[in-house]
Amino acid sequence: MTEIRVRFAPSPTGYVHVGSLRTALYNFLFARHNKGKFVLRIEDTDRSRYVPGAVENLLETLKWAGLDYDEGPEKGGPYGPYFQSERLEIYNEHVRQLLENDAAYPCFCSEDRLTAMREEQAKKNLPIMYDGHCRNIPREEALARMKNEPHVIRLKVPREGMTIVDDLIRGKVSFENAVIDDQVLIKSDGYPTYHLANVVDDHLMKISHVIRGEEWLPSTPKHILLYQAFGWELPNFAHLPLLLNPDRSKLSKRQGDVAVEDYREKGILAPALVNFVALLGWNKGDDQEIFALHELIEHFSLERVNKAGAVFDVKKLEWMNGHY
Ligand code: GLU
Ligand code: ZN
Repeated sequence: MTEIRVRFAPSPTGYVHVGSLRTALYNFLFARHNKGKFVLRIEDTDRSRYVPGAVENLLETLKWAGLDYDEGPEKGGPYGPYFQSERLEIYNEHVRQLLENDAAYPCFCSEDRLTAMREEQAKKNLPIMYDGHCRNIPREEALARMKNEPHVIRLKVPREGMTIVDDLIRGKVSFENAVIDDQVLIKSDGYPTYHLANVVDDHLMKISHVIRGEEWLPSTPKHILLYQAFGWELPNFAHLPLLLNPDRSKLSKRQGDVAVEDYREKGILAPALVNFVALLGWNKGDDQEIFALHELIEHFSLERVNKAGAVFDVKKLEWMNGHY
């Protein structure tokens, strides 16, 4: 059997959200239960969303919660997490390979053209997506223009057929390729997009199970198309249920605290918050509600994660905190 390898791949865009803590925890539990590896990877290639101090807060929060990770780049001394911003050359090399195989192409469209295109699509009630304007520029011409014109690199997504996500939690989910965008892989500033960096790293880091929040499910067909373009084997995918307010609306900042930091400030103890988030979408199969971390490790399985949204009930958290 192949080794179980999972990762937690946050973007440093602010304080750690309780939903992110759950994602980190489920990955950690799955790794520990299966004697696999838990990798921490900081996805920091979107420079416009970078928040100073977010990485420090993240590392501190994981330490507080007791979720230790297993590896990082060799830099001499204690290993740190992987940082995508230190791996830019790897993504560029991989995209060159796709350009050579005609699986990707440069797009020279201006922001103005793209805005007009989107307005037109919105007016006609069409899906808002790139219209393929630059898909068929002859190769020689495209390569020459790349040398001195601003451009992005897009994936050449097949216009026919379906892409099926076979999810361990949600089952088979199908997407029509005709409505999957020719996603940008490299932005005009030379930085990779989330999609490219995420897929390249999951492959290179030999990730066996991609466990992440349900909000990423619409990205997964794009990722599968990228795996196919590279000729790589797919990992297993498991998308965790949404977190809901008690009124079943999507959990959001406006309706109360969502940062782990807020609960720490209120005196919620780490084992209580870990116990609480563990039960947001998972249960042992009986009515046990109080779990120490080692018990969670012992019992955790993806089979017992449900697909229905999980209600985040602060009263329950306070009740749990009283047990620690
Ligand atoms: N960087 C993404 C995030 O901020 C990672 C999503 C994934 O796990 O693929 O959550
Ligand atoms: Zn274009």
